[in-house]
Amino acid sequence: MREIKHWLDGGAVSGAGDRRLPVWDPATGEQQAYVVAATADETARAVASAAKAFPAWRAASLSRRSEVMFRFRELVDANRKEIASLVSQEHGKTVADAGGELARGLENIEFAAGAPHLLKGGYSEQASSGVDVYSIRQPLGVVAGITPFNFPAMVPMWMFCNALVCGNTFVLKPSEKDPSVSLMMADLLRQAGLPDGAFNVVQGDREAVETLIAHPDVQALSFVGSTPVARSIYEQGTRAGKRVQALGGAKNHMVVLPDADVDSAADAAVSAGFGSAGERCMAVSVVVAVGAVGDPLVAAIRDRIGRIAVGPASDPSAEMGPLISREHRDKVAGYLAAAGAADVVVVDGRDAPISDGPGFFLGASLVDKVATDSPLYTDEIFGPVLSVVRADTYEQALELVNDNEFGNGTAIFTRDGGAARRFQYDVNCGMVGVNVPVPVPVAYYSFGGWKSSLFGDLHMYGPEGLQFYTRSKVVTSRWPDPATSEVDLGFPKVR
Ligand code: NAD
Repeated sequence: MREIKHWLDGGAVSGAGDRRLPVWDPATGEQQAYVVAATADETARAVASAAKAFPAWRAASLSRRSEVMFRFRELVDANRKEIASLVSQEHGKTVADAGGELARGLENIEFAAGAPHLLKGGYSEQASSGVDVYSIRQPLGVVAGITPFNFPAMVPMWMFCNALVCGNTFVLKPSEKDPSVSLMMADLLRQAGLPDGAFNVVQGDREAVETLIAHPDVQALSFVGSTPVARSIYEQGTRAGKRVQALGGAKNHMVVLPDADVDSAADAAVSAGFGSAGERCMAVSVVVAVGAVGDPLVAAIRDRIGRIAVGPASDPSAEMGPLISREHRDKVAGYLAAAGAADVVVVDGRDAPISDGPGFFLGASLVDKVATDSPLYTDEIFGPVLSVVRADTYEQALELVNDNEFGNGTAIFTRDGGAARRFQYDVNCGMVGVNVPVPVPVAYYSFGGWKSSLFGDLHMYGPEGLQFYTRSKVVTSRWPDPATSEVDLGFPKVR
């Protein structure tokens, strides 16, 4: 059985620990590889390697750091197919979904390549006589990223591109469920000219994460994953005096007003609800149908679900792949089994023939008139289950979104610009779509939710990412008038 290794000091290294974690093929249900969970010593070695590489990498000129990002971008682009297929093999998502993930990842590399422009500081001349004040941004040192299974290529890129280009060195602890792509990234960064030790990967789980949190040489932690872990990492990290940004779970609502175009809203709900089998933190989980749009919308979504081709990524016609693990598939199916008396199960994914196979498949499901105290509504399901909640008014719909524990993304579907504008003003969420169901910001904005979807203040990537990975220094400088110099510099003595 193949071991997926760590990456330390510029090369792949076998794990020395005694805990092996399986890497499944979600399409067949068979184990395809394993990682050896990094021990505290191995994790500390990764931090030491990053700490050793830091002074030289920090001293590399901005243009050199940017050049590494340019080259890395070209390498990722040239290897798109191979990376996407690696993501599909371990995650299970279709090759098209994996390609979409890479396209969004590439945007982050491109943004980072512009750091020489973006890291310019401020300058105030003659703040006082002969006194200038200016600000500069400097890297933090060793920073660490802990990432989830659902975007094994893109989410690490949200972090390490900006972190590295700012002059930091990086330790990545990727998800143990689909870890291979992190090694490919490490190798491409090496080929792009990144010095050994500037980027390290430790495979593993909680043990490695806790070592990173406690390690005095780790200056900052970026986390993306579920809310309980995000909260805990934020609390532990800040207690240890570190800078932390921890993005958590989501329960994204898509509000459909009575004037919306039913076909476009149904297309959007289906692509945003079932894309990547619903395992996206920006997936639509709840459709809030306002007024008379409810019945035609539910009918239109039901018809479209019937046409979704569910299958392995190796089948080019597949539009939706399996879930990440057997336990997760069973957990998601459990929500359908537990649907309450009032919840109307319109399509039950457990009935799809593929749901009975050895792979971790579950067909797409639609549940209408979901009660707001049903676990279908209260929990983050993170699977291909779309719930519809009926609301009589805009105010009721808004209240649902704003009362929700999470505040990652939301969307409104309407033909009325005034209504959309009002929603954008009223809603308590970090990312809002207007007739766009998955409003993931482009890389030159930043990504982050509100409420239990984010712990910390700075959002990820974009301008806030650069802010997170640098600290500012303000210099107040006074130079005497050159006319007063003891050496005659050629300036007139009296001004
Ligand atoms: P997870 O929280 O189980 O794991 C995330 C990472 O934390 C992994 O690397 C894992 O090994 C590590 N980890 C798990 N338990 C830990 C613990 N007790 N202590 C320390 N580290 C631990 O999340 P997941 O299942 O990989 O990903 C799915 C979750 O991520 C969903 O909740 C989803 O909404 C969320 N997510 C959020 C965003 C966002 O931007 N807000 C993006 C993607 C995914």
